[in-house]
Amino acid sequence: MENYYQPEIETMPLEQLQALQSERLVKQVKYVYDNVKFYRDRMDEMGVKPEDIKGIDDLHKLPFITKDDLRDQYPYGLLAVPLKDCVRIQSTSGTTGRRVVAFYTQEDIDIWDECCARAIVAAGGTKEDVCHVCYGYGLFTGGPGLNGGSHKVGCLTLPMSSGNTERQIQFMTDLGSTILCCTPSYAANLAEAIHEGGFRDKIKLKAGIFGAEPWTEEMRHNIEEALGIKAYDIYGLTEISGPGVSFECKEQAGMHIQEDHFIAEIINPETGEVLPEGEVGELVFTCITKKAFPLMRYRTRDLCYLTRKKCSCGRTHVRMHKPMGRSDDMMIIKGVNVWPSQIEAVLLNQGYQANYQILVDRIQNRDQIEVQVELTPEMEADPSVTVAEREAKVVKGLKSMLGIKVDVKVVPPKSIVRSEGKAVRVIDKRHLYQ
Ligand code: ADP
Ligand code: ZN
Repeated sequence: MENYYQPEIETMPLEQLQALQSERLVKQVKYVYDNVKFYRDRMDEMGVKPEDIKGIDDLHKLPFITKDDLRDQYPYGLLAVPLKDCVRIQSTSGTTGRRVVAFYTQEDIDIWDECCARAIVAAGGTKEDVCHVCYGYGLFTGGPGLNGGSHKVGCLTLPMSSGNTERQIQFMTDLGSTILCCTPSYAANLAEAIHEGGFRDKIKLKAGIFGAEPWTEEMRHNIEEALGIKAYDIYGLTEISGPGVSFECKEQAGMHIQEDHFIAEIINPETGEVLPEGEVGELVFTCITKKAFPLMRYRTRDLCYLTRKKCSCGRTHVRMHKPMGRSDDMMIIKGVNVWPSQIEAVLLNQGYQANYQILVDRIQNRDQIEVQVELTPEMEADPSVTVAEREAKVVKGLKSMLGIKVDVKVVPPKSIVRSEGKAVRVIDKRHLYQ
């Protein structure tokens, strides 16, 4: 079995790495210009020709792509190959507006799997390992990504998907899982159930690969203590491929971006200006090897900074600090994406007015969300439905919209402060702990 630590690529001297990036970028710009009308039009509008891009120093001349562009181009607008050459789609978890759908050729899948394989190897994985994948499978990239990586490394792969904690623990103990892959919040959840069930002595886990949502160092520490493992961060996004765009090594100080496939930039989100190493801004990716859905200068809306400080693991690829937040209002709760507008839609559909508030907190490492909504005067005057029945109905509606349990409190009319400018709907206390 091939070893997916690839020192000739991962520890390549910077100059050589940048020469490789330049070579791939030049080819990719031409490829994209020739095959995607959307890019051709954008570049033409800006007066940029493929020949103007001679290497990575010219990257800033290219236009940005935003999530709105992806929504506008849904589903096929950014496809660079005939549909018959695609073998897979994945999608972001967004349910409002148009979904963002990403396409893959077999070669794209192979590269994505390889990226995840490198992440598993960086966490100490070998073919001796039993890799327990409880990221969700399906349209979400977490499960399929780590599954593919685990196969490449040659681990025994347990494709558990998410949920059913009791069964997770049973397989984990019966089959001796050694590497756990899931969201950090689910890892904390599992750790708690393992502790409560008295299974701590029966598990053989040594490492965890946790990502898809922000998590603090405190949370990492707690998970490591509770499960007796080393917990590694992994980052990615569907638009760029999925998990494995970057990953942590044993140094656990930032995630190495797989620079032979993705070029990273940090920009000022207001002006679009490229910022120097070490400054916090919006992370932007350019894919230089993708075939089906090759995004160029894609604005992730994730805020972080980059560092090229020497890493003790020997990898030369740039490291990104864990994203400290998003530049939009999406919330990630229990590993699931939640937009205030989704909640509003459920409430208004049930006859409420837009007088509501969303309270988010993290208690004992678990996300908590409460929606408070006012009764309308008509509802208050109607004795045939109790408050408890109304609350239960909203809980049900939100569960079906978001897939997670939301606490709901129906409050008397006029008890939620009216806004005099922009309404502040969300009170998210989680950032206080970061
Ligand atoms: P979306 O959230 O856009 O619907 P994805 O499910 O692909 O689509 O999620 C990608 C996003 O998840 C990233 O842009 C980032 O905000 C977040 N994310 C992924 N991994 C991490 C991580 N390790 N730490 C913090 N945030 C992460
Ligand atoms: Zn390293």
